[in-house]
Amino acid sequence: MSAVYRVDLDAFADNLAHIRATVAPAEHMLVVKDDAYAHGLAPIVHRARAEGVRWIGAFDVATGLEVRAVAGTEARIFVWLLGGPDDLAAGVGAGLDLGIGDRALLDELAALPAGATPARVHLKIDTGLHRNGIRPEDWDAALQTVAELVASGRAELTGIWSHISEASDADDDDARALFLAAREAARRHGLAPTVSHLAASAAGFARAVFREDLVRIGAYSYGIRPAGGPSDAALGIRPIATLWATVASVDGDLVRLDVGSLHGVPSVAAGRVDVQTPGGLRRVRTIDEVTTLVDAWPAARVGDEIAIFGADAVCSATDVAEAIDTIGEEIALRVSPAVPRVYTGGAR
Ligand SMILES: *Cc1c(COP(=O)(O)O)cnc(C)c1O
Repeated sequence: MSAVYRVDLDAFADNLAHIRATVAPAEHMLVVKDDAYAHGLAPIVHRARAEGVRWIGAFDVATGLEVRAVAGTEARIFVWLLGGPDDLAAGVGAGLDLGIGDRALLDELAALPAGATPARVHLKIDTGLHRNGIRPEDWDAALQTVAELVASGRAELTGIWSHISEASDADDDDARALFLAAREAARRHGLAPTVSHLAASAAGFARAVFREDLVRIGAYSYGIRPAGGPSDAALGIRPIATLWATVASVDGDLVRLDVGSLHGVPSVAAGRVDVQTPGGLRRVRTIDEVTTLVDAWPAARVGDEIAIFGADAVCSATDVAEAIDTIGEEIALRVSPAVPRVYTGGAR
């Protein structure tokens, strides 16, 4: 036996249902970047589709194509990392929704050979994060180019979008004002975007006016609550995965488990987190590359299974993160691809 990451797709479905109810009438765009936050892209997309999720945020074109293969032709797949003409052509060909936040990409789109179907463009306004996006002073010129693309049948302006910090309500309010002005400007250019989106998990839950038509939610879908933020219970979500280890040996008053930092357990968590054992809570003492030492419990036996973090453990990924001053996503994303993912719940 060795480490295994068990993903409960029924718990995932419960989170999806709760998110849908929370953001309605806006729609949930399930964000699946980084291999669905390391939960495994294909099983997550498959189950999400079975649960009626229509929009999937895939990050790059390569992932978008993988999602298309699993999600089918009806799914709307949003990608926002586009690497140039080849990427654009592949994205248009696969009917992806293209998040375009830079002028050069618009020009490249205009230079592509005309395809059978118009490109679906979601134009990104930079509302202050300076993480790509068209600056407000360049917005009118970009709209002009889009209007030409639309007039020639090469594109449709499907959406206007942005990304906000979700760190301060005041900054987010300023960002929203810029966003709404940018959308008005599009209308003045005779463009009629059908979807607006700017919020991710935190603002999508906490601030109803940020929901617009779509809320791009990753973390909460997987039950990853924000470090220092509301509890799982307050949010109505729960972790969907557990990292399990097995007792490899009993060494006097310490028990050696077969997971370590190479599997994704941060070594700095040693001395700061507990695990539930058959003998009760025990402190994690040291974490090396491939093993973890925990205080022993009576009758500890080789082969006993211990939940390290997640749904079935005493600490969630975010609890571990808080103990070492980082965020839950960081802990979730560390779980090594070498650790087998085992799914319960199925696709239904
Ligand atoms: C990662 C990401 C999201 C999802 O953020 P969460 O906080 O995980 O919900 C949404 N939009 C963009 C552009 C992202 O990169």
